[in-house]
Amino acid sequence: MGDLPAHGPVTLDLPVPVSALAMGAHPDDVEFGCGATLAKWAAGGCRVHHLVLTDGSKGTWDVEEDPAALAERRRAEQIEAARRLGGGDVIFLGLPDGELQSGLAERRAVCEVIRRIRPEVVLGHDPWRRYRLHPDHRHAGWLAVDAVVGARDPGFSPDLGQAHRPSALLLWEADEPNHVEEAGAGAAAAKLSALVAHRSQHRTTLGIDEDRQSEVEGTGNGIEALRRRLERQLGTHGRLAGLAHPALGEAFRLITDL
Ligand SMILES: [Zn+2]
Repeated sequence: MGDLPAHGPVTLDLPVPVSALAMGAHPDDVEFGCGATLAKWAAGGCRVHHLVLTDGSKGTWDVEEDPAALAERRRAEQIEAARRLGGGDVIFLGLPDGELQSGLAERRAVCEVIRRIRPEVVLGHDPWRRYRLHPDHRHAGWLAVDAVVGARDPGFSPDLGQAHRPSALLLWEADEPNHVEEAGAGAAAAKLSALVAHRSQHRTTLGIDEDRQSEVEGTGNGIEALRRRLERQLGTHGRLAGLAHPALGEAFRLITDL
């Protein structure tokens, strides 16, 4: 895979925010999208909050798997993943996996979280990403954007607490990335470790074959392959901001005109 196309100037590194809210459609989306950035910020003193919109109950290839049990297992995995990124509370909206909508009810639910937590930076999926197939990711992107506006304007949902305007919105898997957060070796390792915490996703999303996996995490073929895959991706993103090999980064669409 080649370098990402740049769209205009690419900025590097926001100041470490006091607080951040990262919202993903499913357990593991936040780790893929911005895990290294959150790990770096947490190490720098940022209060990190995670919001997981759906229950992840369809995240399996096994039709025999009990959806309620899987959702419960994924909650525990998500809490462990957040811990591996340096901590932070995890809020679960628990909406049905695969059926996420971005209507008024969902927007209000996210708006309430933003007004309660009052994050300096919000991170989420890019709803404008072209050819994105998974509907939950598209809707999660719209919710990130629409709920920021809903939380910002006092005339919207006055029953949901005092309005709050974040200073920046960072959208991952960006259609037109214009910002990179540099990821040091520690942050990249935390991202890998947090992804590996999602054990229920090893076969489906992470490409880790449990049967061939060493008991010691980090030494098995599957995890090593994931590490190389992440390193390639982080290297590609880092080059977008002109970072020279072996520097790593996570690319975003940064919107500060909020
Ligand atoms: Zn997802």
